[in-house]
Amino acid sequence: MDNCIFCKIAAKQIPSKAIYEDDDLIAFHDINPAAPVHFLIVPKQHIPTLSDCGEAHTALLGKMMVLAPKLAQELGCGYRVGDDGNGAGGYKTLFNTGPDGGQEVYHLHLHVIGGPHPWRGQR
Ligand code: 5GP
Ligand code: ZN
Repeated sequence: MDNCIFCKIAAKQIPSKAIYEDDDLIAFHDINPAAPVHFLIVPKQHIPTLSDCGEAHTALLGKMMVLAPKLAQELGCGYRVGDDGNGAGGYKTLFNTGPDGGQEVYHLHLHVIGGPHPWRGQR
């Protein structure tokens, strides 16, 4: 898509702090992080919003969700049951959809937001 910033990042026409890439997905650090760890998992295919997904996108969405904990673990904010005994770990996963959902970039992306309780008091 012309003039889509995430298509341009996927095509390496503009730079990003890359974390991961395969045939279907890229992941990179958010340019304006809301927490110590804040990255985006983005399909290479241009899909505007989660609401544009249907049955045909089930595998792609599943792949995005399964990748999130793997990359969170690599970036130091992973969590598994039992880890809370250490008082550490965990992250939020978020799709913003549409104007009232706070979506700014209309190319599907999954936010992964982690680090030590940056959102405490805002739940
Ligand atoms: P949205 O509000 O659409 O869910 O989130 C878009 C996210 O993309 C925001 O958190 C914003 O900081 C991030 N973002 C926007 N433009 C760029 C960019 O050029 N590079 C990177 N790495 N992140 C971007
Ligand atoms: Zn796009």
